[in-house]
Amino acid sequence: MHELTCPSCSASAQYDLNSYLLMCPTCSATFSFDLESGRKEIFAEHFIIPNAIDSGQVRNLVLQWIKRIHHKPGTVEREYFITDAKGYSIPFWIVSLEAHTSWKGLVKRQKSAAEMLTTGYVTESGVFRRSYRWAVSSRKNICEHWGLTELHEPKEAINIEWDGFPLDSTFSRGRIDPTTGVKTSKESLEGELPAYGVREYFDFKFSNGLPILSVEIDEEEALRRARLHVELYHFKIAKLNVDIPVDIRTELDIAGLQLIHLPFWHIRYLYRPSSALRHFQKTDKKNIIIEGYTGGVLKSELAIIQRDKIWINAALCSAAALILFFLGSIWHPAFLLVAFFFLLIAGASAYIATIRRGSKENETSSFFYERKEQEEHIEKV
Ligand SMILES: [Zn+2]
Repeated sequence: MHELTCPSCSASAQYDLNSYLLMCPTCSATFSFDLESGRKEIFAEHFIIPNAIDSGQVRNLVLQWIKRIHHKPGTVEREYFITDAKGYSIPFWIVSLEAHTSWKGLVKRQKSAAEMLTTGYVTESGVFRRSYRWAVSSRKNICEHWGLTELHEPKEAINIEWDGFPLDSTFSRGRIDPTTGVKTSKESLEGELPAYGVREYFDFKFSNGLPILSVEIDEEEALRRARLHVELYHFKIAKLNVDIPVDIRTELDIAGLQLIHLPFWHIRYLYRPSSALRHFQKTDKKNIIIEGYTGGVLKSELAIIQRDKIWINAALCSAAALILFFLGSIWHPAFLLVAFFFLLIAGASAYIATIRRGSKENETSSFFYERKEQEEHIEKV
């Protein structure tokens, strides 16, 4: 820690010089400090999206969300326990950019008799352009909070391999229907501004109690990463058009760069069923990420996943088979046949559960089942 005076209000305070930018606790001014020359420079493009919810509302939102996807909503409050809900205001570099992509590639086509001698491919090409406010974490450890490394959920059937995300579409998803009455103070979803539109010049007071995390990554790295993310993303979008890509090129126009503190809540919960399922269910904690602007669920894990249910089925069938074998051996051989049948089901369940283990799709749940089904469909096609 280092004692410095603020270049804006002259108040002195202790600062951690490992941070790339410093924030004055008195007047909220943001500035850089060069240790060698002692030069301080105010950084004006620093904003914050106010946190609008508290931990009580977060808990309600999570219960509401579980009820929505649970097959027996009435049991939710008895069986689900929120163990902790922590909020953070996390700094992101927001890169406003426009990306132009042109692509060319070969597409397989149905061969007619006359074409049997040709290669069976035709060349196709196209262009598309998109604008983003691309968010790149300005924390050194992007894994310090659960779920933040893969917040981007593109509409296209592609796997993301980057941690950045488009701010507008990310911060407007996963909201709980306002008719349930649990949503935050705002009346309707339609009239709402996108999160970006409600940003304020940075001031500690807008975090509404959340800890403000420091800025550790500089603009240059943020720009480099944003370029890489968008180029990769557009490469993958373009590739969907062709069977063999030949030439895919993306050019980026960077329109601006801002630093914005975004509100996030990380919730962990436990599922403890009151039925016999309890004896089969591991009670490890599951995670949910909620944005603190309107309380949209951005990323979540389901407590009881399909694979677990199949394992439970396997265990129950094995137990039944065991009892029936016992009965068959002391009473009537007909039981042996039934026992054998149960053993078959148990074996099949265990097999299905095992082959599903590798599939991440079943591990995480989000609101985007439909999208994921489409992806699977497209992959198969
Ligand atoms: Zn100050």
